[in-house]
Amino acid sequence: MPNLLPVAEALRRVLAEAAPLPAESVAIDDACGRVLAGDVAARRTQPPDAVSAMDGYAVRAADVTAPSTLTVIGEVAAGHPFDGTVGPGEAARIFTGGVMPAGADTVVIQEQVTRDGNAVAVQQASPAGRHVRGKGIDFKEGEVLLRQGRRLTDRDVMLAAAMNYPALSVHRRPRVAVLGTGDELVMPGSTPKPGEIVYSNGFALLALARNEGAEVRDLRIAPDRIADIAAAVRGARDWGADILVTSGGASVGDHDLVQKALASEGLDLSFWKVALRPGRPMMHGRLFRKDSGAMQVLGVPGNPVSSYVCAFLFLAPLIRRLAGRSDVEPPPQTARLGRDLPANDERADYLRATLTEGPDGPVATPVPVQDSSLMAALARADCLLIRDPHAPAAPAGSRCVILKLAL
Ligand code: AMP
Ligand code: MG
Repeated sequence: MPNLLPVAEALRRVLAEAAPLPAESVAIDDACGRVLAGDVAARRTQPPDAVSAMDGYAVRAADVTAPSTLTVIGEVAAGHPFDGTVGPGEAARIFTGGVMPAGADTVVIQEQVTRDGNAVAVQQASPAGRHVRGKGIDFKEGEVLLRQGRRLTDRDVMLAAAMNYPALSVHRRPRVAVLGTGDELVMPGSTPKPGEIVYSNGFALLALARNEGAEVRDLRIAPDRIADIAAAVRGARDWGADILVTSGGASVGDHDLVQKALASEGLDLSFWKVALRPGRPMMHGRLFRKDSGAMQVLGVPGNPVSSYVCAFLFLAPLIRRLAGRSDVEPPPQTARLGRDLPANDERADYLRATLTEGPDGPVATPVPVQDSSLMAALARADCLLIRDPHAPAAPAGSRCVILKLAL
């Protein structure tokens, strides 16, 4: 194993044994944000018949090529079809959504007629099909409109309901447990004693996992003691976590005990240390659960920016893979550099940068100080700007690759 693993290889290993979780059925009103476990084909044609798009009169186009007076023989409203046939010289009163009666092939809007008893005078010609929504113009029975692996949006849920699905088959949500480690950490809102730090990483990790559709468990903070960390790891495993994310304690200091604690629980380590900045001491492995399958473990560094960048690059794709999504990696986009950058060393750099609109597209400007402890800069950033290992110096204005951070 090389000492520092390239980012792409690290991601490959994280995803290597991660398969989509089993399917379950959810009611349509709980389906938003879930990932489809199979293709969804329309169970009906929409609209099921040709319908009027306006309020007016359903007539025969051939009758209204010149000003003409027609006889009204019936009325059609949404949900109330008319079973008569509109013959030559006849019209049916029709309202939006009403099924076009047999014989009629166009709609004259009510603003263009004068009505007197059963007689309706039409002044303007209306070609066949005018103001008519044809049968199946939205979709046809059997058409696959939503594909396996898609995370359902609010619009998708509308569409699935219209396709006549009261429930959908989706993948089970991944269960993600998040553990912070460190003797110095105290919860937000407390009064820290000298040397204490407010715990912050976990809240971003939990939020990111939730936003990706995971079910989360907050394991809070374990002190820097192997027995306490190991107990928390067992807690995650007993809960049935698919993924455990630890933060902190990942380096080689005397107080960096996460790996030892995980090893004591039987961790099968897949890598430790990635050619990445921030986030070098990231670790990944698997622990076997009592039930079945493995609990994937991501050990991210304690520095808040490192923990977030590692979660963004590895945890989010892992959740997406388990959740069954077809798109797992954040999509790279291009931008122009907002300032000169020096040549890079052997680690891929994910610079925190702001985005502005330039004359030819987005401009990404790295924040001036890139220290991995700076949460204010991370919160202000719009994207991560990727610098490949050994990238040469790049002048302002040159093309660069970015990953947008979620709003
Ligand atoms: P570690 O990786 O444990 O050596 O931590 C590196 C730095 O990140 C130290 O300054 C820690 O105090 C800080 N740190 C570790 N965990 C957290 C956390 N959950 N929230 C905020 N800061 C943390
Ligand atoms: Mg620590």
